[in-house]
Amino acid sequence: MTDLDIARLREDTPACQRVVHFNNAGAALMPRPVADAVIDHLRNEERFGGYEAEKRAAETLTAFYGEFAGLLNAGPDEIAYVENATRAWDMAFYGLRLGRGDRLITHAPAEYVSNYLGLRQQAARRGFEVDLAPSDSDGLVDVSALDAMVTPQTRAILLTHATTAGGMVNPAAQVGEIARRHGLIYMLDACQSVGQIQIDVQAIGCDVLSGTGRKYLRGPRGTGFLYVRRGRMNEIEPAFVDLKSAVLDGTSGIRLAPDAKRYETWESNVAGRIGLVTAVRYARAIGLDRIEARVRALAETLRAALARLPGVTVHDRGRVKSGLVTFRIEGETPAETMARMAGQGINIWISSMLTAPMDFGPRGIDSLSRASVHYYNTEDEIGRLIEALPRR
Ligand SMILES: *Cc1c(COP(=O)(O)O)cnc(C)c1O
Repeated sequence: MTDLDIARLREDTPACQRVVHFNNAGAALMPRPVADAVIDHLRNEERFGGYEAEKRAAETLTAFYGEFAGLLNAGPDEIAYVENATRAWDMAFYGLRLGRGDRLITHAPAEYVSNYLGLRQQAARRGFEVDLAPSDSDGLVDVSALDAMVTPQTRAILLTHATTAGGMVNPAAQVGEIARRHGLIYMLDACQSVGQIQIDVQAIGCDVLSGTGRKYLRGPRGTGFLYVRRGRMNEIEPAFVDLKSAVLDGTSGIRLAPDAKRYETWESNVAGRIGLVTAVRYARAIGLDRIEARVRALAETLRAALARLPGVTVHDRGRVKSGLVTFRIEGETPAETMARMAGQGINIWISSMLTAPMDFGPRGIDSLSRASVHYYNTEDEIGRLIEALPRR
């Protein structure tokens, strides 16, 4: 992206005038067209009524499926709107037919803690076994060890693509190759990768993929989506049904919606949905390839600048890294570092044991500062973060 592109994209993002936003992994800044789309729809609800406003937005709401299909290289019938990534994941995960004797494999250090909590709850309740794939020397899932763990009882592999607590990106396509070879259901949490890393569900080979709106896609809060491969839908029942996802068949049977709408609910945040499809259009107009290259370059610049400073340690693991940069300042807690940055108009966040117990526990880390860059950040802003650090 040229400087001119960046200037234009920053003009679209009013907050860029006010803050240096390095909390894109928490919630990225919405560009103006996204915020406008949400607000305009709420105004229409105010003026015309909620159902009536929805009717007026029918075309955009239908376009939601096609836009996501384009983003992920999927079919529109394989996409569902869900209000957040955790529930999107749950709709599929809780719908897996697993019981006593079944096994599944996950890579716990990368796993999002909410997914892991659900996994442990269900394992205890239903009696299936969870096998934990080890990490390789870079902290990534050890692909050959994972392959060797597959047994005739193994049913599924669950993986987080890019972690929430740091810059690690798991080799999703290599795991997909294993899943395919063994005929296993493969669920991928792409919450931190969608919108910053190009995602192609055919190339990756995942059967389920979940994501959220507010992170790298720059959509509104309280929005998310689910992809489920057409050929797997009958093996992955929705965890809950309602009148959107199913109809009565006679008086005692139910018939699920034929497509991924079986994972949706009738009521939803319509304005948020419109905001999310606007965000996907916005990202695709820029080009995910360009976004990925820019985010990676900025993150590498930030990591290198931090690593040069005495008393600063950078903690990201992996080979190819994401836009999330984690570090620790000697003599200062991450909470103090965050407050110091906030005082200078710089937004960063904290990765802690609470969100990454399976990662930080074994590494002996309690918390880290997390600065997550997006394409609209600049080298100058990275300079401001570096300037805001204590001088030694
Ligand atoms: C944020 C995040 C989630 C959860 O997304 P929500 O929309 O907050 O439910 C899941 N997985 C990863 C890796 C995340 O970073």
